[in-house]
Amino acid sequence: MEKKLRVAIGSFWHETSSFSSEYTSLEEFKTWVLDEKEQVLEGSRGVRTCSGNIGGYVDYVEEKGWDVVPLIAAGAIPSGPIRKEAYEYIKNVMINNLKGQELDGVLLHLHGAAVVEGLDDCEGDLLTAVREEVGEETPVLVVFDPHGNISDLSVEKADAIFAYNTQPHEDSYEREQEACQLLEQIVSGRVKTTCVRMQPPILLPALRTETESGPMKKLMDRAYKWEENENVINVSPFAGFYGSDKKEAGPSFIVVTNNDTELAEKIARDMVEFMWEIKEEFFIEPTPLEEAIEKAMSEGGLWAFIDECDDPCGAGPGDGTYILQAVLDAKVPSGGVSAIHDPKVVERAYQAGVGGVVTGKLGAWRDNLHGEPVDLNAKVVKLTDEKLPYAYYGGDPQDVGRIAVIDQNGILIVVTELKADTENLNVFEILGIDVRDLNIIILKGLGHAYKKAFKDLPKGYITPESIGITNPDVRKIGEFKNIRRPVYPLDKNVALRYK
Ligand SMILES: [Zn+2]
Repeated sequence: MEKKLRVAIGSFWHETSSFSSEYTSLEEFKTWVLDEKEQVLEGSRGVRTCSGNIGGYVDYVEEKGWDVVPLIAAGAIPSGPIRKEAYEYIKNVMINNLKGQELDGVLLHLHGAAVVEGLDDCEGDLLTAVREEVGEETPVLVVFDPHGNISDLSVEKADAIFAYNTQPHEDSYEREQEACQLLEQIVSGRVKTTCVRMQPPILLPALRTETESGPMKKLMDRAYKWEENENVINVSPFAGFYGSDKKEAGPSFIVVTNNDTELAEKIARDMVEFMWEIKEEFFIEPTPLEEAIEKAMSEGGLWAFIDECDDPCGAGPGDGTYILQAVLDAKVPSGGVSAIHDPKVVERAYQAGVGGVVTGKLGAWRDNLHGEPVDLNAKVVKLTDEKLPYAYYGGDPQDVGRIAVIDQNGILIVVTELKADTENLNVFEILGIDVRDLNIIILKGLGHAYKKAFKDLPKGYITPESIGITNPDVRKIGEFKNIRRPVYPLDKNVALRYK
């Protein structure tokens, strides 16, 4: 008969930009996910989509009838450094729930790019605390987001590490189930894991990390090929996250084998060398903004401008106006923006009412890194407090507060009270706006995510030059202080290394 296991399950999810003017407090976690006790399990049952969700773990262990100790489920929209008190709270709940428990394993879902005020290697710190609590013998398995910047400390403290295989992220559920199966093998003594991490001296932007095509697909295919070896448990290519200024920021490879360190090292080395060979494919030149606007206006039809520089999913503030201002200045006849985070404008729009006029400034209220505030003289077209679907996170709909759609000289601007994650969504359609009649829509986030949502609705997708902390030209993000140097393309004449 199969052994009934007793496991602890928890998650902690945040992608932190060290260059953001925002901070992430416990309030932000409460707005997104901060579940404790039974709610950890209830909020996750059957949830298959998303980052940070633990539906894969919960469904697996409940189907098996294992005993479960829920730890905590915490996650918030990508943003600036996590307040120390918020992290300490989450960590303490997790560790206190582990105290005194007899466990066969700990199953965690972490992001890997969390940075706390004064603590760069957040996950390393958390896993160290978990390991201290459960001791050396209890297996600790972790599923990470492939945008995580995983440290050697994390690898040392975990027994096995899995990254999702997909971007946009679609397989966290399956990876968690894989981790559960591995735990069974470890507990039964059939497998003894060994984990090796290596990384090339590269810092990647996010824009070419999709896994269905392009260079990341090549890396995934190579990883799958290695996984055919029966002693290989898992090969995880991490794209890393450019916004966390920590030593390990950037792509890395983590290889888990069945007690074969030599093989794991050989594979990690091969992956690093292959990535070094194809690295140029991850970088693209943006189109000059004026050129992009001219093209859209002269050719007519609908064009999607992707603002990669203010990507809310990459910790951009969502209040950037750089491209919008240029579109207004060029007197583009019609267009749309999804979305600008500006609670004060939403309030003024509600005061004016539908058909009323809203004036004053719009956007760029957090800092001037993403443009300057726009002078408004716009008509209020729609007011709603309907919730948006979650783009990634699955489960409950996304609460973006109240929404106002305002029309400034033909440009329909979606303004939200809270920061919105509109990647993978056609927000216009959700709000009843037909984009087919428009000329330019400005979409904040990643092009490959929007291509899935808008498909061939636009005539073309353009990534114009913009400014901001999620700039795909990583040299323009800000001043890195902690990343290992030299690193390409921040430095010149970088030679291949493995750490
Ligand atoms: Zn990610």
